[in-house]
Amino acid sequence: LYSLRNAAYSTLVKMPLSFFASRRVGELNSRISSDLSQIGDTFTLNLAEFLRQLIIIIGGIVALFLTSMKLALVMLAVIPVVAVLAVIFGRYIRRLSKQVQDAIAESNTIVEETLQGITNVKAFANEFFEIVRYGRVTSGIRDLAVKGGKARGAFFSFIIFCLFGAIILLIWVAVRLEKSGEISHCTMIQFMLYTIFVGASIGGIAEQYSQIQKAVGATERLMEILDATPEAVYEKDKGAMNRFHGEVDFKDVKFSYPSRVEVEVLKGLNFKVASGQSVALVGQSGAGKSTIVSLILRFYDPVSGQILIDGKPSASYPLTAMRDQMAIVPQDVLLFGGTIYENISYAKPGASRDLVREAAQKANALEFIDSFPEGFDTVVGERGIKLSGGQRQRIAIARAVLKDPAILILDEATSSLDSESERLVQAALDELMKGRTTFIIAHRLSTIRNADLILVLEEGVVKEQGTHAELISGNGLYATLSKLQFSNSLS
Ligand code: ADP
Repeated sequence: LYSLRNAAYSTLVKMPLSFFASRRVGELNSRISSDLSQIGDTFTLNLAEFLRQLIIIIGGIVALFLTSMKLALVMLAVIPVVAVLAVIFGRYIRRLSKQVQDAIAESNTIVEETLQGITNVKAFANEFFEIVRYGRVTSGIRDLAVKGGKARGAFFSFIIFCLFGAIILLIWVAVRLEKSGEISHCTMIQFMLYTIFVGASIGGIAEQYSQIQKAVGATERLMEILDATPEAVYEKDKGAMNRFHGEVDFKDVKFSYPSRVEVEVLKGLNFKVASGQSVALVGQSGAGKSTIVSLILRFYDPVSGQILIDGKPSASYPLTAMRDQMAIVPQDVLLFGGTIYENISYAKPGASRDLVREAAQKANALEFIDSFPEGFDTVVGERGIKLSGGQRQRIAIARAVLKDPAILILDEATSSLDSESERLVQAALDELMKGRTTFIIAHRLSTIRNADLILVLEEGVVKEQGTHAELISGNGLYATLSKLQFSNSLS
């Protein structure tokens, strides 16, 4: 069970992003918790019991044959009937049990999502809506359980009926044989005792069998996860490659998401970034900026065309080694529930306190961290809620500093920080960008004036490219957007 749990988890975390696009966290969680508990019970109790009963049955039947061949054959006549029934019943229970686990997974998804977004549930006063939604799923589970219970009841009744029928038949035959002198009184008693042993075990094994079938059904989905093909990520690849220079070259890259193949998100992208340059990706929401970043990180592979890093296709590098040289400062920084130290050192697990402190300093985060009574040991709360937006961002920057990547990705925060936080964040970012190829997903044009290259995207193609000065002098999209944002910021 321990191995299975770990195997399931390690396969899960190594799965490509496309896998997660079609599944929900609550469901996957349920597979690892609920499905595995089913196997747990089966392994610890039912399997051992099943084997015990099986040994008694086999031993008992051998003893029966040794005692009286004729009587044993009468007794065995009942077995094929029971066996056929057991197979049919087993299939039914498996199917039902799979449905139950699916429904449990669905109910877990509701719990997970509503608890994660509890502020939304409350703000919309939707507590009762969620209670009804949950109740609908759980009543499905109850119905399935009742159905399973009825089937089990019918199955056992039938087995017991067959069994006692057979025993009565046997007693009748045995008594007749004894009367006619074919077997001794002693053999008859002996035979009956064995029959009772075997009969009791057949009754018991039916119960174990139904439990095992239930577990097999419950774990079908889990097995799908265990059989899935994860990404080629290997710990040994970390740091196994020379540092990238950081040239990135998109050659006629076309892409659509596996979950929506008919929509082409990138329609033949071409651009080239020299080592150490900063590139700003500009364009309206949905233009494909985040998608480009996902392709650079190889969360997905292009449908056609190539992405070259330092002149070689990015697919030719070991995945872990390549991602190890990249870092992302996301728009909405999600911290783990531990301490500030743990959160920063996530970029380099086991990094020394001094290194983490240095990284925090470069990220302009040291001052506020030191102002907390517990300093680096301050617990940030679930998802970092105990820190302000600007503080969270500087923690994320410190992470990136610690990782020291050759290629850096900045997803600029949309919600503007107060001007002091913004100044500190921007100064930290400027420092971080030095000597690295940087991609900036820009939401505000004011912050990208100094970029070496601005790519203006529209519906998956590069509409314009150049520096701020070049683009502003034209009459294109950038010039228009720039004027718009300028007038907005004045109003
Ligand atoms: P931007 O970052 O410029 O706002 P995105 O790269 O996020 O744009 O999205 C580009 C397009 O791809 C959008 O039309 C969006 O709906 C679609 N898209 C984004 N992520 C996915 C996904 N995981 N599956 C399917 N379509 C997606």
